[in-house]
Amino acid sequence: MINVINPADGSVVGQTPLMSEPDVAAAITRTCDAFPAWARKTAKERSDILRRWYDLVRADKRVFAEIMVKENGKCLSEALGEIEYGLGFIEWYAEEAKRVYGDTIPSHDPNASVLVMKEPVGPTAAITPWNFPFMMITRKVATALAAGCTMIIKPAEETPLTAWKLLEYAREAGIPSGVFEMVTGDPNAIGEAFTRDERIHKVSFTGSTRVGKLLAGQCGATLKKMTLELGGNAPFIVFDDANLEDAVAGLVSAKLRNSGQVCISPNRIFVQAGIYDAFVEKLTAAVAKIRVDQGMQDEFVVGPLINQQAIDKVTALVDNAVSLGAAVRLGGKRHPKGGLFYEPTILCDLNERFDVHNTEIFGPVFALYRFSSEEEAIRSANNTEYGLVAYAWTTDMGRAFRLSRQLEAGMVIINSGSVGTASVPFGGIKSSGYGREGGHYGIEEYVQVKYVLMAGQ
Ligand code: ADP
Repeated sequence: MINVINPADGSVVGQTPLMSEPDVAAAITRTCDAFPAWARKTAKERSDILRRWYDLVRADKRVFAEIMVKENGKCLSEALGEIEYGLGFIEWYAEEAKRVYGDTIPSHDPNASVLVMKEPVGPTAAITPWNFPFMMITRKVATALAAGCTMIIKPAEETPLTAWKLLEYAREAGIPSGVFEMVTGDPNAIGEAFTRDERIHKVSFTGSTRVGKLLAGQCGATLKKMTLELGGNAPFIVFDDANLEDAVAGLVSAKLRNSGQVCISPNRIFVQAGIYDAFVEKLTAAVAKIRVDQGMQDEFVVGPLINQQAIDKVTALVDNAVSLGAAVRLGGKRHPKGGLFYEPTILCDLNERFDVHNTEIFGPVFALYRFSSEEEAIRSANNTEYGLVAYAWTTDMGRAFRLSRQLEAGMVIINSGSVGTASVPFGGIKSSGYGREGGHYGIEEYVQVKYVLMAGQ
């Protein structure tokens, strides 16, 4: 068994099995064996079952939220927000299951018809991270199941309790054994078991770029389709003409969500010289008001980081910035509460030489850079191997369109700090991965196109 630890106080809140190789192999076999019957169900049948899952979980939102607070550390309001977001995927794909349309193509042969059919890719596997223990599971499983695929999941060992609860409710809703399976244990061994199995036709992974590249290599041997949602280094650009109040509010909520442990968290905040000082003032005042605490309360609080490695990394990044001359406007050290709590921190006067510029911070640290021109901002924003999301704030429409074209990212968000919802294609380019989750784009990743020529009179 693997202990699941509450990052707020170090207590053991549950356990998850350290599954043996034969147990993992048996679960993969169940996933594969269940595929033909699930794929043969009508879209409406699959949709009804997904909808039941949605209804059952929705009725017990609080149960899920409390588990998430305990194993992840985020506060209740955030957990409930994540549940809404995650339930949105089940609802969306319960509906979308019925709309996986094919095509007809004008025939090149007068005695033939040309059809394009869409079929589920087959049994699939997914590996998910700990930062969104609920939504990461529903986003992948609901899409796969709607398309007619079966799916085996390995959730993060830090947050498996939410995942097991989702499985329990799925069974109650009528999602059979094999159609949705789950395993926990040694990530390397499970990753290898998923990727080397020829019967698995697709792997969806959300996590670090390092592990994503490893899995992509492993999937090469059996040529599996993949969806990879990996690390980010999001620029957040505020121009002189932006609405400052809105930009500060958007930044604070985007940055402090899950204590900054989010792949779309604003990582490099570029502020134009004309408003830089005013922006820093307003941001400091806003962040100073936010409390740091354990999350089992209704008020929004910044919770602990997930584990020792996470807090060591954030500490090292801030120390590096300070040693290179960054100005610390707020925080800059571990929180007096001790443990895994880190103070919301604002670092100013940074440049590209600082480690925070080139590293996904994954903590409550605002890293600010001053810029002069639009060209400079775009060049700096794109100066990263990542390309998940880019945020920009401006009231100049022409500039907004230029930015939407020139920023190298899978998602460009203008005048908002809010990105995700079930209906949009979420995903990145460059080292942030490939493939999209959400909307009708998401389900395309789980179907394959079959061209059919029907000749004859
Ligand atoms: P993070 O740093 O956010 O934890 P990881 O990429 O390490 O990101 O973890 C994301 C998911 O990938 C987790 O479920 C983790 O257990 C899993 N994982 C880590 N290493 C491997 C591996 N070698 N093979 C397969 N999965 C892995």
